[in-house]
Amino acid sequence: MSLQNPVFIPGPTNMPESVRRACDMPTLDHRSSLFKDILHPARDGVRQVLKSQSAEVFIFPSTGTGGWEAAITNTLSPGDTVLAARNGMFSLKWIDMCQRHGLLVEIVETAWGEGIPADRFEEILTADTAHRIKAVLATHNETATGVTSDIAAVRRAMDGAAHPALLFVDGVSSIGSMPFEFDGWKIDVAVTGSQKGFMMPAGLGIAAFSPKAMAAVETGGLPRTYFDIRDMAKGYAANGYPYTPSVGLLNGLKLASSMLLDEGLENVFARHTRIATGVRAAVAAWGMELCAARPALFSDTVSAIRTPEGFDAGRIVSHASTRYGVAFGAGLGQVAGKVFRIGHLGSLTDVMMLSGLATAEMVMADLGLPIRLGSGVAAAQEIYRNSATPMALAAE
Ligand SMILES: *Cc1c(COP(=O)(O)O)cnc(C)c1O
Repeated sequence: MSLQNPVFIPGPTNMPESVRRACDMPTLDHRSSLFKDILHPARDGVRQVLKSQSAEVFIFPSTGTGGWEAAITNTLSPGDTVLAARNGMFSLKWIDMCQRHGLLVEIVETAWGEGIPADRFEEILTADTAHRIKAVLATHNETATGVTSDIAAVRRAMDGAAHPALLFVDGVSSIGSMPFEFDGWKIDVAVTGSQKGFMMPAGLGIAAFSPKAMAAVETGGLPRTYFDIRDMAKGYAANGYPYTPSVGLLNGLKLASSMLLDEGLENVFARHTRIATGVRAAVAAWGMELCAARPALFSDTVSAIRTPEGFDAGRIVSHASTRYGVAFGAGLGQVAGKVFRIGHLGSLTDVMMLSGLATAEMVMADLGLPIRLGSGVAAAQEIYRNSATPMALAAE
């Protein structure tokens, strides 16, 4: 029998059996006519998950990090300035990538646990009358801190300043799990990977470009080869790729996106909210606090939970792994050792989540933290039994 438990890390996430099978394909010649029936539905499925009519979706054999690189190298030019808040490990790494590409980054230092300060962005953009800033970078969901930022507010700040910068959104740990409006928020490039909301193995980097971003590709650009979307667009127009695609992963993405659309995006989002609400109820019952500063910032895909002063949160992650075979997320960067993270996104049910919460309780009790077994589980049970989804919806 398999002794595999679900994982409770914020990516890679648990895979539905059907998606896993869809990724496992015999060799298929990507230059044959069969490939187009995988490629185009996969791209179209992603576009629908993004709630966009007009986005051009590019899918690289890569990861989310490659999507960042595709966003910046295709649209920006050497010496361009971008605006970004640094409020966690992922915004930090994206800023670092921009700097390594010779871009100037106007950094708004923001406490880890806070969201993107849209009002501060509006001041900076309003003051930038010369339009030096070419792009605004926004990490929708900071996976390190469990903070969801308000992208609609970032867009309002840009519009309030009447600023023409492009809006790039890292949606790696939000797309396919929480409300995301590519067209509604007038996003120019949205980035994700296959191994989070799409419930797949890692291996695909996804970047969706608006018509405005596509136009910027004509006039700008940093040195790029592998991530050049002009080559990719030519490939797609001929039902192919500029190099060898991951056919099995694309087949998985075709299925995963249609599963999300069949469940109904609003139902998918509600499921994530419900599961996250249960996790937060458990955290409160444990007498613990989230890294996220306020309820408005609480993420529905990952919770970063502060452990008591002087206690190394990393011990929770390693003990859960060695004693119970369960994966939780470690703290990253500034909050390493101070938080542990429970990922609650992707292919997950209320019942799976209860097993994760029960495991966290055993781990914390084993390590001498003052946790009453069952306290958090009971709090989550009250949430789940009062708002359960009919099984028909959850069944694959
Ligand atoms: C996971 C993650 C990334 C990195 O994606 P990879 O697929 O590991 O390259 C970037 N941003 C956020 C918000 C993430 O959660």
